[in-house]
Amino acid sequence: MQPRECLEAFGFRPHRPRNLSRRRLCEGGSEAALHGLRPLARQRSTILDACSSIAARIPGQMKRIAANAEVTRQVAAEFVSDLKPGNVVALVGDLGAGKTEFVKGLAVGLDSPAAVTSPTFTLIHEYRGGRLPLYHMDFYRLSSEDELDEIGFDDYLSLPGICAVEWANRFPERIPGTAIWVTLSITENDERLISW
Ligand code: ADP
Ligand code: MG
Repeated sequence: MQPRECLEAFGFRPHRPRNLSRRRLCEGGSEAALHGLRPLARQRSTILDACSSIAARIPGQMKRIAANAEVTRQVAAEFVSDLKPGNVVALVGDLGAGKTEFVKGLAVGLDSPAAVTSPTFTLIHEYRGGRLPLYHMDFYRLSSEDELDEIGFDDYLSLPGICAVEWANRFPERIPGTAIWVTLSITENDERLISW
């Protein structure tokens, strides 16, 4: 749902004082009338901000198209700016969908100088030096949940950093209910649809 639709769903309508056209207000309108509009505009933008953050909390409501890997990293860098210590990002998407690129963007957004690489063989990489530590996991090669216990997976979840888990859908029961699920899919044009 777009912020405007969300606004309308809550019963808000674009508001303008009766008998005053926008033109009159802007061209011939008195200073006072123009001042009168400002608080309204502010109120409206506050509501729009609130609606955007409500939309951000409804899974699947946020969607971005990334034409290339750099855009995917930028989307991730923006995305991580809203995250808090302890947040878990559960990444889903086919091989080559861009999950690792997304994690590279998380590191950029956290101002980490680390070079992110796929933890496919080591299961977990820790990147420090940024605003928060980033724990990067990959369930792709895990054959059983026991391996998660061996690496102390649950302990990482309670650390005050950001956990990003590729192929999280392989063991969804191990992902906390508060995790943010991010899905990457390859479009017909070889772009990536990123939704969360
Ligand atoms: P995954 O971790 O999902 O298997 P990777 O992030 O390792 O995927 O690889 C994605 C590959 O697709 C990279 O080679 C990257 O350059 C390429 N690519 C092309 N377009 C995009 C895009 N829009 N977003 C992310 N990766 C892209
Ligand atoms: Mg990967």
